[in-house]
Amino acid sequence: MLRVVVLGAAAGGGVPQWNCGCTVCRAARDDHPELRSTQASVAVSADGDHWFLINASPDLRQQVLAAPQLHPKAGLLRHSPIAGVILTNGEIDAVAGLLSMREGSPFTIYAHAKVLAILKANSIFNVLSEKNVRREPIEMDRPFEPTLPDGAPSGIEVEPFTVPGKAAWYLEGGVHPGGSDGQGDTLGLRIRDKATGKYLYFLAACAEVTDELKTRLAGAPLVLFDGTVWRDDELIAAGLGNKTGQGMGHIAMSGERGAIEQLTGLDIGQKLFLHINNSNPALLRGSAERKIAEGAGWQIPSDGTEIVL
Ligand SMILES: [Zn+2]
Repeated sequence: MLRVVVLGAAAGGGVPQWNCGCTVCRAARDDHPELRSTQASVAVSADGDHWFLINASPDLRQQVLAAPQLHPKAGLLRHSPIAGVILTNGEIDAVAGLLSMREGSPFTIYAHAKVLAILKANSIFNVLSEKNVRREPIEMDRPFEPTLPDGAPSGIEVEPFTVPGKAAWYLEGGVHPGGSDGQGDTLGLRIRDKATGKYLYFLAACAEVTDELKTRLAGAPLVLFDGTVWRDDELIAAGLGNKTGQGMGHIAMSGERGAIEQLTGLDIGQKLFLHINNSNPALLRGSAERKIAEGAGWQIPSDGTEIVL
């Protein structure tokens, strides 16, 4: 059985974002606390006892507190069911949570060499001593089985693959510690329960749905997909920023080239949007945009949503 818990579904900043007065953030702060969402991360497990985080968001502490699956086992003085963290990119909202896991419990960080190079170049991550926290490079199209802290197999197979995207925002215009050549800054993951064969796809950032990606996702039991913006120029139109979705490496939900249209008719079992920015009107229950997304078979999950495959 593959268990998946959506720890957070929001993009960077969360909902509400600390300095934002947009419609969604105001509603989340005031009359609609149900709109509140932490920054995107999911936990997966094949045995229900040991869990792997996909990305470590800045809201990790709050997310672990809210998820009983991730609490220390009763009777143990020091323990965590979190066996590892698999990073799909080096953005703040994917790596900052690692700093909240610095209290000496053993786990493994799995990431592409480009993302590991970013961690290495930022000495603050040295707080995660190599003695307790191993850093394992992963490669595109090379499936691997993450292990438990005692070295036992987890029963989960993870296959990383390249998706169209960008390097972390804070590296723009600077020198990438992992070099400027090649891919690896944005990964998608296929996560499969080795015992049952059930699997899901995780793509928190994706700039474009290519034909190759469609072929890959066709027939998948579950897809968690980039839902950052409803339309490409949403931040500009709302007066919230000067970046387009594409400029940030994110496809829009709507439009001919958008995720909803492009992932229609692929026989995907369950489709969930993830990494949803607070500017996205599809967050508002009852909005026209929400109805279109749901009408096309998409779910916008609340934090804590658990799916069993
Ligand atoms: Zn906002």
